[in-house]
Amino acid sequence: MLQLPTYEDVAAAARRLQGHAHRTPVLRSSTADARLKAELFFKCENLQRMGAFKFRGAFNALSKFDAAQRRGGVITFSSGNHAQAIALSARLLGIPAVIVMPLDAPQAKVEATRGYGAEVILYDRYTQDREALTAGLAQDRGMTLIPPYDHPDVIAGQGTAARELLEEAGGLDVLLVPLGGGGLLSGCALAARALAPDCKVYGVEPEAGDDGRQSLRKGEIVHISTPQTLADGAQTQHLGRYTFEVIRRDVEDIVTASDAQLVEAMRFFAERMKLVVEPTGCLAFAAACHAGLPLQGKRVGVILSGGNVDLARYAQLIGAQP
Ligand SMILES: *Cc1c(COP(=O)(O)O)cnc(C)c1O
Repeated sequence: MLQLPTYEDVAAAARRLQGHAHRTPVLRSSTADARLKAELFFKCENLQRMGAFKFRGAFNALSKFDAAQRRGGVITFSSGNHAQAIALSARLLGIPAVIVMPLDAPQAKVEATRGYGAEVILYDRYTQDREALTAGLAQDRGMTLIPPYDHPDVIAGQGTAARELLEEAGGLDVLLVPLGGGGLLSGCALAARALAPDCKVYGVEPEAGDDGRQSLRKGEIVHISTPQTLADGAQTQHLGRYTFEVIRRDVEDIVTASDAQLVEAMRFFAERMKLVVEPTGCLAFAAACHAGLPLQGKRVGVILSGGNVDLARYAQLIGAQP
């Protein structure tokens, strides 16, 4: 039996993050409220340290290392926000970090990760299995592996985003959360179940990769090939063992958003709310606008999960005629 994380773990993570993670703002928009005939509360994790909620889970997990683990260091595989979250958290806590990244990862991401002081090991994604490679390195070097989403301490840390939102906004009827591997969604569901038991929690994944929805329908974890989508933070191929169990117990349903809907939401955030939100971070609001959920008259929490987007790419997407 898996030992699933609980709300107590989320509350303990909140104490560990105090004074280290930003308590990000909860913003309102009368334009969005009028458009959806609802009250929307945007939790701005695009303004979190290193630009995404992933700092929460990474810092929580590394804070729990014992003395031997701290000496040995942390290792992970990621080319996205989790890499930078682990690198920054490790630097803050004085722990050595190794990040395994694909050879063709954007140079900017490799540099950003090195800039936080981590050692980057590159691998060939066409010939090498990154999980086996990372596990082998962890073994050889005596390092602790912290994966991007399927880990109780990571899940508990991510849940602190919804905990803060519920504390600040008061009761919510609905909470919409971007979904990749499910660390953020399962953590937020734990917080919502404890603090607002009647709140319906929905995960939102890219239309091109709806493995989460398929998994809920089927009652088991469905694997898909890497989806082609602008939402690069949600290009996961399957949910995790922990995240799936929490999601199927505590989440109402999983819906999807298309790339065109994500771009429309990015433009809305830039124009109306003066916020830079990366495509994956727009999933929840895109679903609020287009997924046909019954939101009228409701109090709706929307998690903006991150804001890390290459500027040239951002300009191209924002500048395109709708
Ligand atoms: C990682 C990430 C997600 C997905 O989170 P999971 O915990 O994998 O579901 C969503 N948005 C952003 C910005 C991310 O970096």
